[in-house]
Amino acid sequence: MLKKLAAAGLAAVLLGPSLGLIGVGVLMNPAVSAACTVPGAGLIVGAIPESLRVTTANGETFTLNRTQLTHAATIIETGSQIDGVTRDGIQIALMAALTESTLRMLANTGTYPESGDYPNDGNGSDHDSLGLFQMRPQSGWGTVAELMDSTYQARAFFGGPSGPNYPSPRGLLDIPGWEQMDKGEAAQSVEVSAFPDRYRNYEPVAETILTALTTGSAAAGGADETTPVGSMAETSRVVFPLPEGTWVLTSGFGPRIHPITGEPSFHTGTDFAAPDSTPIVAAAEGVVTIAEFSGGYGGLIVIEHQIDGATVATAYAHMWQSGIHVQPGDRVTAGQHIGDVGSSGNSTGPHLHFEVRPGGTHEDAVDAAAWLNAHDAADLPEAEIGAPVGSCAPSPDTEDEPDQAGDDSIQAMRS
Ligand SMILES: [Zn+2]
Repeated sequence: MLKKLAAAGLAAVLLGPSLGLIGVGVLMNPAVSAACTVPGAGLIVGAIPESLRVTTANGETFTLNRTQLTHAATIIETGSQIDGVTRDGIQIALMAALTESTLRMLANTGTYPESGDYPNDGNGSDHDSLGLFQMRPQSGWGTVAELMDSTYQARAFFGGPSGPNYPSPRGLLDIPGWEQMDKGEAAQSVEVSAFPDRYRNYEPVAETILTALTTGSAAAGGADETTPVGSMAETSRVVFPLPEGTWVLTSGFGPRIHPITGEPSFHTGTDFAAPDSTPIVAAAEGVVTIAEFSGGYGGLIVIEHQIDGATVATAYAHMWQSGIHVQPGDRVTAGQHIGDVGSSGNSTGPHLHFEVRPGGTHEDAVDAAAWLNAHDAADLPEAEIGAPVGSCAPSPDTEDEPDQAGDDSIQAMRS
């Protein structure tokens, strides 16, 4: 069993860096979404260009870069998954994000120093506003951690019954009659700004982005709907499952002394201690296969991805029940906020237990640290798996994943 694991680990490492494929994004697989929810606009995002030349209604021309277009893709993809959001609704969201931040994920370290700890595209300084849509924690849009997550901001902007802030502050779906409004007026209604013209100026820019990034409409899919949305279009981008600066590696993959039972056991994941409620993000784009609260894992989310043409699952454990924010069947993007760090199940302190399972949801785990390193998402010490000893082989009881969020478990593991 260990040999098999080691071989699988090596294979995972040999898959190599996937950075070159960043941005070859899919985003919406109609086959998947059709099974469970009615797609909203049903837009499919294709490859994201390196840059895009755009012109505002006032005649100013400028160039959007890959980062800005990736945020646009997140907005399009997020809106496409929300029932009731039409193509017009997505265009309104793009107009709002263009106006508020020029599609940049802005920190605001003057008001919230910790906002600089999250991935960002620069620093804004407007009051206590954060991110793509310049949402303000003090107005109830969300916490700093939530608002530094572009998918969260997009969901908050669209709002509606499945939105994170329902019913207030209001998102687009919560504005009565938004479909009949002028698009600039609709955008300013969500942003609570008095200047609809500012948003209107970006209407043609948003249209250019939508045309450039989307390849078709699943909802309108007729006989000529042959847009490839399979492996070719799958994104292979991998990100670290916790925000930068929030975590400490406390226990790696491999044989160790179980921190609760004191018995030799095999640790199938990698543990990152982090404060309770720290946001956990999806390591890659994919579909949620498990989201449940039970057993030794406590809260458990498993996501299946297509990366470099192969199926791989990532698992996230120990969330509290209230800290599970996705459901089986949900399609998620890399970096999407899917849960919060907790300490449920066999756990001795708040941490994320993260696993990587080549082949899929129910396959054996390999060293997650090595996998994150190989995909340029981390630079972690990797497990050195020695000869099998005693009862170290993975067995069902190792699913009862424990951890001590301190140093002793590392010592124990290496002893
Ligand atoms: Zn663990």
